[in-house]
Amino acid sequence: MNIKDEFDTITAVATPIGMGGVGVIRISGDKAFDIIKKIFTNPNFEPRKFNHGWIIENGKNIDEVIVLPFFAPNSYTGEDVIEIQCHGGVNVVKNILNLVLKNGARMAEKGEFTKRAFLNKRMDLSQAEAVADIIHSKTSDFAKASVKNLSGVLKEKINDIRNQIFEVLSKITAGIDFPEDVKEPEYDYLISSFENIISSINSVLSGADTSNIFRQGASVAIIGKPNVGKSSLFNALLSLDRAIVTDIAGTTRDVIKETLDLGIPVTLVDTAGIRNEGEDKVENIGIEYSKQSLDEADLVLFVYDASQGITDEDKEVLELLKGKKHILIANKSDLVKDTTPHPEPLTSGEGEILCLSALSGEGVNELKQKLTAQVCDINPETLEFVTNTRQQECLRKAKVSIEQALLASQLRELQDLISIDVKSAILALDELTGELITDDVLNNIFDHFCIGK
Ligand code: GDP
Repeated sequence: MNIKDEFDTITAVATPIGMGGVGVIRISGDKAFDIIKKIFTNPNFEPRKFNHGWIIENGKNIDEVIVLPFFAPNSYTGEDVIEIQCHGGVNVVKNILNLVLKNGARMAEKGEFTKRAFLNKRMDLSQAEAVADIIHSKTSDFAKASVKNLSGVLKEKINDIRNQIFEVLSKITAGIDFPEDVKEPEYDYLISSFENIISSINSVLSGADTSNIFRQGASVAIIGKPNVGKSSLFNALLSLDRAIVTDIAGTTRDVIKETLDLGIPVTLVDTAGIRNEGEDKVENIGIEYSKQSLDEADLVLFVYDASQGITDEDKEVLELLKGKKHILIANKSDLVKDTTPHPEPLTSGEGEILCLSALSGEGVNELKQKLTAQVCDINPETLEFVTNTRQQECLRKAKVSIEQALLASQLRELQDLISIDVKSAILALDELTGELITDDVLNNIFDHFCIGK
């Protein structure tokens, strides 16, 4: 994508391709109004009013539509924008798109509408990235946190930090440029300012791990010997019948994965039962996969049959969990009269055991709560904003520069030298907000968008 093309007129279908109630075709750029005038029966537009009419080609009706005009700069992209709402059939949407293309628009690239919004200063980069996050969010809580970014929460935090740095830089620069009139700032002032700036950066970065978990999710593997109810538990957690449940040991030969929305996206992995490898090759491959899933998992749910208690075979599987974050589950509690794991309790070192019945559902909600608490110890609703790895990288760069400036101030080095690090910190933050960014980075960001956004 080339920034030079920013002033030609682009178009794309903004709704998913397929049958639906409504299809939306968007046009943005200088020629948006000229194009719609050529193909629409009712083109006398006024701001904030939609027009009803027909899209026509060579005098023939193509579809009955509603057209929304947005006059520059009051539009999503900051340019003249037309949105055509037509019926949601695949072909009617294509016909209108082709007509718009024939009349002078070019097909938009991925994320090009949002890129223009950014280039026309309708939003900063953290807000543009939030648009992609909202579209791609796997859980409703992540979508909510991304909306906070879109409304500018992260942008404000970064601007606050930038202002703090800028104030120090102005004082240093004034002292350097006008040594006769302005005294250079005291080193103690520099030290305390840099310390404050570092703690502000740390407070934004402190949510980084949580943000990453919210973005990427966590992987949770269900492990145990065959027939203890792993697939039943998988289904009970997901409230579906995805995994096959039978009472023949070794039914889950492959690894089955599904996403569970617990505020954060949890990839739940149902594995073949782990036991000493036998004759069955297919099952052995499944067992190999199980061990691999165990290695990759952020958290393991170890399941055993409460009616049998912990057997030697269970103990062998437990051995594999050493050093792994796990929850111990005594399943089939409905078969045991009292709910204490029966007959042999685990050693105290193994931690608390959760008794449940995948069959009746008793205890499954408790497990979900425990699971959420273990993979992420913060309440998703309290998340003020999210950061992505690119933004975290910029913040870390800024922090390193300020730490260097702090050290140099403690050593009473020349303020000329200190100002170099302070300027680098500002540049790193400008890269974060997009004030200063290369074409490559920009294209990489917008490549992750879909067409039409
Ligand atoms: P897996 O091999 O560990 O995946 O076990 P399955 O989920 O296939 O279950 C094995 C058998 O145990 C099936 O007959 C299930 O119906 C049964 N089962 C699973 N969970 C429970 C439970 O909580 N209570 C009882 N009574 N039976 C269960």
